[in-house]
Amino acid sequence: MKTNLLEFDLLGLQTFCESLGEKRFRAQQLFRWIHQRGESDFDRMSDLALPFRALLLQHAKVEGLDPVATHKSKDGTIKWLFSVGENNAIETVFIPEDDRGTLCISSQVGCAVGCRFCSTGHQGFSRNLTTAEIIAQLWMAEHQLRRQSGQNARVISNVVMMGMGEPLQNYSALLPALKTMLDDHGYGLSRRRVTVSTSGVVPMIDRLGQDCPVALAVSLHAPTDPLRNGLVPLNLKYPLTELLQACSRYLAHAPRDFITFEYCMLAGVNDQAAHAQALIDLVTQHAQGKGLSCKFNLIPFNPFPASGLVRSEPGVVQRFAQQLQQAGIVTTVRKTRGDDIDAACGQLAGDVVDRTHAVERMTKHRTIDLVSVSS
Ligand code: SF4
Repeated sequence: MKTNLLEFDLLGLQTFCESLGEKRFRAQQLFRWIHQRGESDFDRMSDLALPFRALLLQHAKVEGLDPVATHKSKDGTIKWLFSVGENNAIETVFIPEDDRGTLCISSQVGCAVGCRFCSTGHQGFSRNLTTAEIIAQLWMAEHQLRRQSGQNARVISNVVMMGMGEPLQNYSALLPALKTMLDDHGYGLSRRRVTVSTSGVVPMIDRLGQDCPVALAVSLHAPTDPLRNGLVPLNLKYPLTELLQACSRYLAHAPRDFITFEYCMLAGVNDQAAHAQALIDLVTQHAQGKGLSCKFNLIPFNPFPASGLVRSEPGVVQRFAQQLQQAGIVTTVRKTRGDDIDAACGQLAGDVVDRTHAVERMTKHRTIDLVSVSS
């Protein structure tokens, strides 16, 4: 069986080249052909020696994902649905802005964390993506958009691991993909422009800080453990105090001097003034009053029928943001993009082949306990 070279970061490709009896330095040329030029045909890699190309043809391939649908929004947002076999699909979203092009990448087929407000979480979990399947999303999007623009300039300047899945629960596949994104012979993205978003897998936050410290976003969504237990079930394993301590440790390695907290605004659940005050207390009183350097990103909830949840009114979101800002916390409200193509995570992919019985579990726990924020 041929090996898909998208599976390797540069170090992995060097080892693969050696296994074919080639010199390690050949890998660098090959890596540039694949990632910088988007080439998949070994015969067109003109500066590779002919015997090396023949070996590659025999043992390797460069194979992206099979796109089953592409949706383009009026605002320029593009959403690809890629087949990953067994009737499963994953989503990748490109969001163009004046000063940047951001690609939102999936890391798993479905997700096992099961956050209450997340369409992907309600579909359950099928499997982890391979490194090749993770990096193929960037490889395909970057080179397709570049070809369409008719220019050879980079289109994607930022990557966020915020698509389907919990990236830190697929760490061994994630790490080579991140290294390929950052590698000067690959995509050459700055650490500040690659963001891993996690629901709070504490031990792996520490690993990421050691192995590949990129920007970190944490899905917080609640200021207290009782409320967060109901919204992000992983909180039962890694409660808020442990999570914030891990964030503090991460800051020692992070390319930015703050952690971004994502906060999905749910009407009547976590959007009241008392919740904002509890959040302020949580982050300012952390570490014996030293506080945690952070920024909040408030996300308007994208309703879907099975959630039983409702989006907070815009005025409520604005007041919540102001309350945080008045406490000195930088706070932004995420603009909704691609509304006309259901660009929110998990809304296009349809049901994944769930191996975790998420639907049954979630049906049993339809109610979120609205506990007092002071408890
Ligand atoms: S919000 Fe993220 S971690 Fe939570 S269920 Fe959705 S994909 Fe998984």
